[in-house]
Amino acid sequence: MSTITLTREIPVKKEYDLIIAGGGVAGVAAAVSARRHGVKKVLLVEKTVNIGGLATTGLINFFVPMCNGRGKQIIFGMAEELLRESVKYGFDSLPDEWKDGEPKEPTSARYITHYSPWIFSFQLAELLKNEGVELLLDTLVNDVVVEHNIVKGLVLESKSGAEFYPAKYIVDATGDSDIFKRAGAPTVEGKNYFTYVASEVNLDSCKDAYESLDIKRAFVNVHGGPANLYGGKHPENRPYYTGVTKEDVTEYVYENSMVLLERYKNGDRNSRELARIPFMPQFRTTRHIKADYSLKMEDVYVHFDDSIGAINDFDHADKLFEVPYRAMINSEYPNLIAAGRCVSGEGFAWDILRVIPPAIITGQAAGAACAIAVSGDLAIDKVDISKLQNMLEKDNVMIHFDDSLVPENRNSDEKVDIGHI
Ligand SMILES: Cc1cc2nc3c(=O)[nH]c(=O)nc-3n(C[C@H](O)[C@H](O)[C@H](O)COP(=O)(O)OP(=O)(O)OC[C@H]3O[C@@H](n4cnc5c(N)ncnc54)[C@H](O)[C@@H]3O)c2cc1C
Repeated sequence: MSTITLTREIPVKKEYDLIIAGGGVAGVAAAVSARRHGVKKVLLVEKTVNIGGLATTGLINFFVPMCNGRGKQIIFGMAEELLRESVKYGFDSLPDEWKDGEPKEPTSARYITHYSPWIFSFQLAELLKNEGVELLLDTLVNDVVVEHNIVKGLVLESKSGAEFYPAKYIVDATGDSDIFKRAGAPTVEGKNYFTYVASEVNLDSCKDAYESLDIKRAFVNVHGGPANLYGGKHPENRPYYTGVTKEDVTEYVYENSMVLLERYKNGDRNSRELARIPFMPQFRTTRHIKADYSLKMEDVYVHFDDSIGAINDFDHADKLFEVPYRAMINSEYPNLIAAGRCVSGEGFAWDILRVIPPAIITGQAAGAACAIAVSGDLAIDKVDISKLQNMLEKDNVMIHFDDSLVPENRNSDEKVDIGHI
């Protein structure tokens, strides 16, 4: 491949203590958590014009279960705070058992909810402003400047042109580990099935919504690619997608939308409308960092000394995990930390780790860890774990799950229907 060398002078902007790349739920949690723990200058950079990432812009408006399938809540902290926020002004699908918090009696009803993606997105933006996070929308983190594995700052590309933003620490919440990758750190790619979910309103669904006085029933899911989480219904003639090249992303989005377009070439055009489409590609697992530790399925029911929060399997009852701080960092890169989808997990453990509630938990932990690092001018792997755990516990995170919740049959694979995905 031939290359050219590009040399240009670009303005240097003010320095931030912390820049968060990516305004999905993980990035929001990181930014807010850092501010709440006293970090003064925090900037969040988002390439779209919406806050929330897949959870809003990507139309994945569903908190997977934050409980063990027996009526015990496992995921707390900012995940619970944001779940409650998400249904403050818009519709919900919270089971009655969980409307007022943890049920008194055991139940298989799970702690889940749907929410309005757009209202929630606006609320997240408001939260960032209220917490004193500086925000740049429609701004792409285009490059990093690295010296000896220390990222000196980020090159942002926006309507203002290219500008350099120096930063002491950076949270990679891009969902794709863009920052680690560009800093030269090792990353691991995932694979994605042919999936595309949008929503339609039609005369029947509107009638149903009207008669039931429930507006969410006006929206019904429609699909381009039909594949599910486990690859079921992935068309035989389709490749798997990584989502880490422009060609791959373009083909994925284009081919999916063409499947959906076929649906609208038939039928009465006055009786239905494609009401919501995702404005970012719905890739589950693109790229995560190669961290000091990678969460595995064998880590079920394992306590980690450096846990930053307990999480549960969203698809099976009982299965509990803890997220080790080491899954968010690569000690060779002393001022970078990952949050959300780019935290390191293997196989289905990555799936358990990347969904909305755990993504918020790792974001919250990343923000708090950066607060400790900023105040002590520390490398990210030198953050005092007990101090971090104490801070998170005060912020309502459950660091270690209770051993009484571990079932006698540790190998049980009981699925619990969550009515979605
Ligand atoms: C098909 C599908 C179904 C799913 N179903 C569920 C479900 O039912 N429930 C559930 O809980 N989870 C589900 N998930 C997973 C969940 O939605 C995501 O894993 C989670 O929202 C990830 O949050 P995040 O903040 O880590 O990343 P993202 O939501 O990906 O956010 C990353 C943000 O960074 C921005 N960004 C990226 N690169 C740059 C850059 N270079 N510069 C600036 N900004 C950048 C993006 O625009 C985006 O806003 C599903 C995912 C998919 C794809």
